[in-house]
Amino acid sequence: LLLARVRTQLRLKSMADELRSMATTDGLTGLANRRHFDELMRREWQRCARSGSSIALLMADIDHFKRYNDSYGHPGGDACLQAVAKALTLVARRPADRVGRLGGEEFVVLLPDTDVAGGQEVAEHAVKLIQALALPHVASLTAEHVTISVGVAVCTGQDMARHDPQSLYSAADHALYAAKAQGRNRWAAEVMG
Ligand code: GH3
Ligand code: MG
Ligand code: MG
Repeated sequence: LLLARVRTQLRLKSMADELRSMATTDGLTGLANRRHFDELMRREWQRCARSGSSIALLMADIDHFKRYNDSYGHPGGDACLQAVAKALTLVARRPADRVGRLGGEEFVVLLPDTDVAGGQEVAEHAVKLIQALALPHVASLTAEHVTISVGVAVCTGQDMARHDPQSLYSAADHALYAAKAQGRNRWAAEVMG
């Protein structure tokens, strides 16, 4: 009887663990999902504001991904998303760095205690690494391979009191739009003043 009760407890524990991970993780890529990433962002924003250091956010979007799906099918598209997700986890090297999937083909990388130069360096790394993967993309209007565009937003410690995480997302989104407009397969940065 005792053994049965222990087994039940263990099963409940593993079910609870699985539910918790489902609530925080994107099923396709294993990255933090939007909800969880928002929570990480709030936490890190406050921590960086308190310590007076800066914070950087990268927003990455696959170039011409609709065309990719049209050429390689939805399963092919999903495999591409997994490859890009994996690559992004390789460029976010510090223990506090976090990668998330906002949904669709949009990814975010949070870089706490990182200044403009640092954010730009990671963005450059990300663009170059995806290019180096050389995943064929015959329908792309930008290159023969899968490429990404990245928007970088940075907020320094003394400016954090006048801004919030939402405006960091907006700035990254704005910078991403600029990178797309400038020809894709590149990054653009915006510093919050
Ligand atoms: P751009 O270079 O301007 O970013 O062009 P785009 O085609 O990548 O951008 P757009 O936003 O027009 O299209 C995004 C496409 O991403 C739409 C859809 O076909 C695809 N997509 C979104 N979510 C998923 C997903 O979970 N799996 C797959 N396979 N495709 C997805
Ligand atoms: Mg998009
Ligand atoms: Mg896209």
